[in-house]
Amino acid sequence: KKEQLQVLAEVDAVTKDGTLMNLAANISSTKELEMALRHGAKGVGLFRTEFLYMDRATFPTIEEQYEVYRHVVERAGGQSVVIRTLDIGGDKQLDYFPLAEEDNPFLGYRAIRISLDLKDLFKVQLTAILRASVHGKVKIMYPMISSIDEIREANQVLHEAMGDLDRQGINYDKDIQIGIMIEVPAAVVMADLLAAEVDFFSIGTNDLVQYVLAVDRMNEQIAHLYHPFHPSILRMLKMTADAAHTAGIDISVCGELAGDERAVPIWIELGIHNLSMSPQSLLRVKHRLLNTNAEEAKEVAKSCISMSRSQDIEAKLEEFIEENT
Ligand code: PEP
Ligand code: MG
Repeated sequence: KKEQLQVLAEVDAVTKDGTLMNLAANISSTKELEMALRHGAKGVGLFRTEFLYMDRATFPTIEEQYEVYRHVVERAGGQSVVIRTLDIGGDKQLDYFPLAEEDNPFLGYRAIRISLDLKDLFKVQLTAILRASVHGKVKIMYPMISSIDEIREANQVLHEAMGDLDRQGINYDKDIQIGIMIEVPAAVVMADLLAAEVDFFSIGTNDLVQYVLAVDRMNEQIAHLYHPFHPSILRMLKMTADAAHTAGIDISVCGELAGDERAVPIWIELGIHNLSMSPQSLLRVKHRLLNTNAEEAKEVAKSCISMSRSQDIEAKLEEFIEENT
């Protein structure tokens, strides 16, 4: 079955009736990048940069980061690479930079909150990303955004980094696109306002589900309550997509739900044509798209969006797969 799917690596991700999707990869190492390319990924939709900071003794320098970003950007061969700024805290720790113990680490000192607190460190990363931007199509993404001010403050550090490079005569992409993760409920509810500040949204369903349902994504004991197809989540996906379309900015999904073939009709109905997923999921989702009629999928998704129970939504989506296998 795996070998059968592999032949799809070079095939376009398009529905039977011609709706084209862009399937990019989530990567957190250069090894994963290679797997993604073997599986036909069209660019990197989420480059988790945490690994650059882990398993070492100090923070990585501009030069060290630049080398890795450049490598990824060059390997992507002209396809876009969305580099997410550091997202530590929550479950991710650094040996050389102990974070204080917190009662609720996922609600605590994490991601953009750390970057905006340690601006020198943030500027090092942004500088390295800017330098790599001359080697291909780079986009910058801020994680865990919950307010307009966080975007503006982050952009201020970005502009300082740009000013420094200008003074040193170092080139970078002056039109580099800036986007945010939509993974905190506040960001969904005010997506129309946030859309005016950025070039793109990428929905992070892993955290969004955890925060919307108040279900810790790491807690086995309540794993049965973690429902990506919860009606509240479908509504939030729709709110975010609608806000992006109204504002005319790009929208993608990079949480695990993007790699779940059952969700394909939802993306088609919501007009989300950019998905980023773990390299292992790329061929399966593409296979699903190739066996889907977009018009039929929209009808199925519309009925799902009107349902009131996760179980009914999942059953409907699974039935649609059965009918198209
Ligand atoms: C997410 O939260 O959905 C996401 C893609 O980011 P991470 O899993 O790295 O938190
Ligand atoms: Mg996240």
